[in-house]
Amino acid sequence: MKDFFFDDFIERIKEFQRQQLEEREKTLAEIITKYDFVVGTSYEVIRQTEEENQKLKDAFGICEIYSKKIVLRKFNEDDPYCYENMEALKNKTFRHEIIHAFFAESGLRNNCSFAEDEELVDWIAIQFPKMLQIFEKLKIER
Ligand SMILES: [Zn+2]
Repeated sequence: MKDFFFDDFIERIKEFQRQQLEEREKTLAEIITKYDFVVGTSYEVIRQTEEENQKLKDAFGICEIYSKKIVLRKFNEDDPYCYENMEALKNKTFRHEIIHAFFAESGLRNNCSFAEDEELVDWIAIQFPKMLQIFEKLKIER
């Protein structure tokens, strides 16, 4: 089992995007793949509709830390949450849930004041690509 590294992260995001494009035509929830996150902890990543998973009623994604699963919302064409540029929303959601997994697998869960802070988690998810770009430009990403 491989540990998590940023190079892998970028490759996995690209692979996830490739797989999402391939999976778009399918209607049933299915396992996209298993990802090795955070010092060897494996998370299953699946896509489901709101009908298939009631927890997605008001969420684009869920991080199930005890079953080691990230559930991403599968959008229907008539989904009220369908926006323009859905790829950006899906990618941001995936990053958001991965950050939850990072906190959880680092032992930062319910008793931590910031690990469950949706605002902070979303801020990291939104800012991370920009930060990574700056770090890479300055060659300080490692
Ligand atoms: Zn969240």
